[in-house]
Amino acid sequence: MIVIYLKVLGYYGGYPYNDVGTSSYLLTSNNYNLMIDCGSGDLISLENNIDPLMLDSVLISHYHHDHMADIGVLQYYWQLHNKRPNKSILPIYGNDTDLNMVKSFNWPNSTVGKSYNAGSVLNLGPFEIIFKEVHHPVPSFAMRILEKSTNKVLVYTSDTYYFDELVDFSKNSDLLITDTNFYGDKKGKKWHMTSEESGLLAKNSNSKKLLLSHLPQYGDLNILLNEAKEKSSNDVEVLLAKLNLSIEI
Ligand SMILES: [Zn+2]
Ligand SMILES: [Zn+2]
Repeated sequence: MIVIYLKVLGYYGGYPYNDVGTSSYLLTSNNYNLMIDCGSGDLISLENNIDPLMLDSVLISHYHHDHMADIGVLQYYWQLHNKRPNKSILPIYGNDTDLNMVKSFNWPNSTVGKSYNAGSVLNLGPFEIIFKEVHHPVPSFAMRILEKSTNKVLVYTSDTYYFDELVDFSKNSDLLITDTNFYGDKKGKKWHMTSEESGLLAKNSNSKKLLLSHLPQYGDLNILLNEAKEKSSNDVEVLLAKLNLSIEI
């Protein structure tokens, strides 16, 4: 039986804190290892879980440092290890709104930059991935990842403020990861979601599990968790991101 796991490598928004890195996840199915975002502190977290040479691909949601700061050192890691047990060159996918950035993902004999856009369907190993551009100060793409042999679905909102179209894009997901950078009482212009919006999104999209991530470094995160639970339904299992938390999808 194929089991799909999502591992939390880092979960803070903006900057690492308390020995935990920024937003990054390792999605594994059938020995295929997809790293989703690669922020600050996340290479060492990856090393604590798997040999980085066992990655099959890396997917970057948007070009903010808290989602891509460790790309450079990941490239050096591959450069400095000649014997690669898995594949010879690691593909790193970024959106095509900045082709110079995609180009910077090329590193001789180590990594290769590849691009996607809102209309792309990426087939990476067991996964089929579609995208939706969301709302953030830089182009940012939510992703809906289908594991083809099991039909399990992971949706990751990337960084965005809440907007209604996210409900359709997240419909019936088995695991929904939301950018929950604010407590429920956050007022004014936002570039991220609140705990309450995350809870409502999970409920209205009929998602089975909700992972609150891209968390703030302040306040009591149990309050954030409770606020999300209050707005979601009892059918949704709501989880707070923790370092190395492993979730079966
Ligand atoms: Zn971020
Ligand atoms: Zn961002």
